[in-house]
Amino acid sequence: MAIGPEHASVSVPAERRRGSVCFARRGPTKSIQSIISRARTGGFFLKTGCVSACTKDPICFAPERRGFQFRSDGTQPSGSGAAFFREVFRVGRLSEPQSFVISVPVTPDASALLRWYDHHRRVLPWRSLPGHRPDPYAVWLSEIMLQQTTVKAVIAYYERFLTHYPTVQDLAAAPLEDVLHLWAGLGYYARARNLHACAKRVSERGGFPDTVEELLTLPGIGAYTARAIAAIAFGRPVVPVDGNVERVTARLNAIEDPLPASRPLLARQAALLNDDPVAQSRPSDFAQALFDLGATICTPRSPACLTCPWQTSCIAHARGIAAQLPAKQPKQARPTRYGAHFLMHDNDGQILLRTRPPTGLLGSMDELPGTDWRSTPWTDEEALTHAPCLTHWVRRGEIRHVFTHFTLYLTVYEACLPQSHNAGIDSSFGTFRSAKRAALPGVMKKCLALTKQTPETR
Ligand code: SF4
Repeated sequence: MAIGPEHASVSVPAERRRGSVCFARRGPTKSIQSIISRARTGGFFLKTGCVSACTKDPICFAPERRGFQFRSDGTQPSGSGAAFFREVFRVGRLSEPQSFVISVPVTPDASALLRWYDHHRRVLPWRSLPGHRPDPYAVWLSEIMLQQTTVKAVIAYYERFLTHYPTVQDLAAAPLEDVLHLWAGLGYYARARNLHACAKRVSERGGFPDTVEELLTLPGIGAYTARAIAAIAFGRPVVPVDGNVERVTARLNAIEDPLPASRPLLARQAALLNDDPVAQSRPSDFAQALFDLGATICTPRSPACLTCPWQTSCIAHARGIAAQLPAKQPKQARPTRYGAHFLMHDNDGQILLRTRPPTGLLGSMDELPGTDWRSTPWTDEEALTHAPCLTHWVRRGEIRHVFTHFTLYLTVYEACLPQSHNAGIDSSFGTFRSAKRAALPGVMKKCLALTKQTPETR
């Protein structure tokens, strides 16, 4: 018999519900996997009981093997168990004795993870100390900042925000431009606009709601963030599934389906981690322990399985495939775009800046005036027809900036406002302002940095 272990969720009777993942020596078909995934009431093992009735050797539960095993003597399954048997084991007809194993790995022990967390938890500025109530404002602010960004990059921004806006009411009362200015450099600027809008709503309603459903109604709060705030700040027993938790879940269950298609399956499996009453007794710590496990032990490239509190429950570790999971679909090549921007100085040390439209990429952020970003490079001649005025523009060079969906090359030109230019600059190019007060995104900061370089360092 060919060995081809596959996974599937399976419902385990409550008294044995230490685990929820099953794999068979002969894999369940996709359709049966989804049936099993949906089954939550113990029906699976009732059905295996039917199979047992069709075989001479009884199914036996083998706790030390963490699963069920049985052997057929070649007798055909019959009755309601027959179809199930054939589907699960992809066996049409039996003609000789065969062995089957359904192993049910022990659900990772929440107590082991929490014990590990109590000793090794990361100290983070937004995280409450053991025994203290988490501050919903700190949890929310950090979770919004951490979307698409690393902890290391966020810490300085988080501390700066808290210094300027110690409470959600302070943030709500601040002008949007100031918030964008503080956010500049952190990327994904729609988050900053939503942060401000959310602060206003929370301030108006007198505080953060404490359920996932209500949190989801606030600007900028999606499924993950709602669950993270509900679990961490309000002790709701839900599992927020970020990249760390996805990775841990994929490995614990040896789920080999590639991301992003496997995301719904991973979310279902991650939710089952919460079945352990111990996890439910400390939802805030359990969620953060999962984050820390993924960030410090179950890392993307080289998981430190030997020090992992869940090593004995991990199928990927047992099968030696931990570092290969989660699998990812090959990325599509990122398209390239090109543009040109103009740095113009006036006599008062200010530069010409305009504000981008409020929606779309880099919405409401400031920028140097420039051309569209298109798929073909601009010649100097072409680009200079888009300059704010006719003067002697010096080509300073080119910067490269990678957005999620495309790579951008920008040519930067620099000039001073000519003394003779009495007509002023058309307002569509912006106004002369101090760069220090501007909400400049990273890509524009790169343009400015380029013009400050000496020719040798360029
Ligand atoms: S044993 Fe290894 S792969 Fe499995 S959860 Fe722990 S660190 Fe991750």
